[in-house]
Amino acid sequence: MATVSLDNVRKVYPNGHVAVAGASFDIADGDLLVLVGPSGCGKTTLLRMIAGLETVSAGTLRIGGRVVNEVAPKDRDIAMVFQNYALYPHMTVAENLGFGLRLRGMPRAEIARRVDDVARLLELGQQLDARPAALSGGQRQRVALGRAMVRQPAVFLLDEPLSNLDARLRLSMRVEIARLHRRFGTTTVYVTHDQIEAMTLGQRIVVFDRGAIQQIDTPMKLYERPANLFVAGFLGSPAMNLLRGILHAGDGLALATAGGTVRLGTSPQVDALADWHEREVILGLRPEDLRPLAADDPSAALEARLEVLEPVGNEVFLNLRHGDSALVARTPPGVACVPGEMVRLGTAVQRLHFFDPRDGTRIG
Ligand code: ATP
Repeated sequence: MATVSLDNVRKVYPNGHVAVAGASFDIADGDLLVLVGPSGCGKTTLLRMIAGLETVSAGTLRIGGRVVNEVAPKDRDIAMVFQNYALYPHMTVAENLGFGLRLRGMPRAEIARRVDDVARLLELGQQLDARPAALSGGQRQRVALGRAMVRQPAVFLLDEPLSNLDARLRLSMRVEIARLHRRFGTTTVYVTHDQIEAMTLGQRIVVFDRGAIQQIDTPMKLYERPANLFVAGFLGSPAMNLLRGILHAGDGLALATAGGTVRLGTSPQVDALADWHEREVILGLRPEDLRPLAADDPSAALEARLEVLEPVGNEVFLNLRHGDSALVARTPPGVACVPGEMVRLGTAVQRLHFFDPRDGTRIG
């Protein structure tokens, strides 16, 4: 069983910097877990601890049920793919693919068989005699992946494997990685700072910030019920709109903001905010949950001034201003608004998010 399990794993670098403040999660056999967070949040450090390339300062790390805190990288049955590929420039593709197996003393015939299998799978059959300098970025990335795959490890560790590729190649390699994972079902930990990559690849996602886990959940749950302002702002593009104001109860709940009033209507979620009446909260609205309404529509939740219209093909982003807050609404093309005018906006009452302004945690 290739489970990976972390119990309060910490990393304090010798200079005293706490890179991982205590991480606990389990990865089931065959799962693909994505670790996502901004640059410097500690995700690479965490992956390198799983790989055995960094020591664990405290806590327990298990692979396949065995405590591996003190086990050398080569004895962990893992293979890691790095951001910069780290291919050997003087070796051919075939030699690069087989190098790790040769080091382990595997018989030549078995190496050749595995290299051929992986080359066929990754469509590198024509490039086996080429050197890395003669390959495209995508082909180099596939060699790096292939070199991990020939080892048939219990766990794959991938550290931003697509970040050196252009946008189009990133997309096709993302699909490729998802396809390979479905086919082989190898337990995989995938590190990225790219929220789209995380959302499309991860069965479960660990959102990381400043050395601490912010939330662990499926992509959909993270999007629909972010546990705090960091997760709310990190996942989703354009980002969730945030409005600060005082909650007033009356004929339906309303938020008094610097830019006017936001009518919240009634719903079980809004009713559950009774403890927050007459207190400051932060309201979160996804851009797709804000839609322009006719000028006389009585169901409007708020008004905002339209600043810029951004057509992006199948939809339009409306950049608006409500008091001192910038808002973005996503709507289908053909919207009849003109920059400079006030727009009435409707919201989906069952899709509102509320946060405590003191620490950013979700409320309601
Ligand atoms: P990136 O995406 O930019 O690689 P990351 O989330 O992977 O970022 P890490 O590389 O894990 O982040 O680094 C986490 C923090 O630990 C950073 O603030 C970094 O400066 C610090 N750090 C990394 N390596 C060391 C080290 N050897 N000694 C001291 N601090 C370090």
